[in-house]
Amino acid sequence: MDEIRLRQVECLNCGHRRAVREDERRSALDECPKCHYVGWASSAELSERTRRLLRERPVQGRKRAVHLHAVQ
Ligand SMILES: [Zn+2]
Repeated sequence: MDEIRLRQVECLNCGHRRAVREDERRSALDECPKCHYVGWASSAELSERTRRLLRERPVQGRKRAVHLHAVQ
């Protein structure tokens, strides 16, 4: 069966979400259509990353970490 697997990624800057093909590597280099930032993380990885940020950066990373958490 020829199933296309998708995963959801989020812009690391503004949190814009989109679905990309599981095997699509180049999409990681695309600009965000909203803010033109180039940097994506899968939603699954992002939740773990957010927890780590909250734990390891109590002051400096707080604002960004909270923003990432808010777009989950
Ligand atoms: Zn963006």
